[in-house]
Amino acid sequence: MAPLLLAVDFDGTITMRDTLHVIVDEYGCEGVWEDLEPDLRAGRITIEQAMSRQFAEVRADHDEIMALVRERAGTRDGIHELVEFADAEGHRVVIMSAGFRTVIDGVLGDLGLDHLEVVSNEAIFAPEGCTLVFSDDRGEICPLCDRRCKRHALAVRHRGEPIVFVGDGISDRCVSGMADLVFARAHLAEWLDERGDAYEPFEDFHHVIARVREWQHEGRAAA
Ligand SMILES: [Mg+2]
Ligand SMILES: [Zn+2]
Repeated sequence: MAPLLLAVDFDGTITMRDTLHVIVDEYGCEGVWEDLEPDLRAGRITIEQAMSRQFAEVRADHDEIMALVRERAGTRDGIHELVEFADAEGHRVVIMSAGFRTVIDGVLGDLGLDHLEVVSNEAIFAPEGCTLVFSDDRGEICPLCDRRCKRHALAVRHRGEPIVFVGDGISDRCVSGMADLVFARAHLAEWLDERGDAYEPFEDFHHVIARVREWQHEGRAAA
């Protein structure tokens, strides 16, 4: 079977709950996002600026954040098996996240998956407030969404293999359009439904593995 590029979102995909939501729910300052929303909607501030202001109110150190994430975010069944499947079959796996490297590394480390390539932003957690560092890796502004989305990062990693994408959120919209096979749930699934675009629903990664195998045997991956 031909090697594939498996691009997998992190928050709400590898984790059951979005770690950014988990962190803000516990340590964030109530009402900050609501106050920022009019400026955000009017285009006076970017989503990155809004996120930075929201996380500036998150006053907790790295250990407190990781304890919270470990307690509340959860991980989706079968992620370890997906990576084993990919390693055995020669597929590349890239984790593509709009979230934070330090949190992702902690969760992947717990899963024994710290060897995976990760594309993400970063957060420096501190009792005085959190500082976000947005990755330069996201390169050019995307013509579809007018932002630095995940498309560029996937494009520069693509070596011509069929692409399988797994995701759930707004930041997965554009990049999912580059994939030959899309697994979607939650917001991403609703958005693809609205557009009439094809995708596979998924609840866990065992299903993703089974469906990727079938898809390859159907000969679709060669297309
Ligand atoms: Mg997500
Ligand atoms: Zn985009």
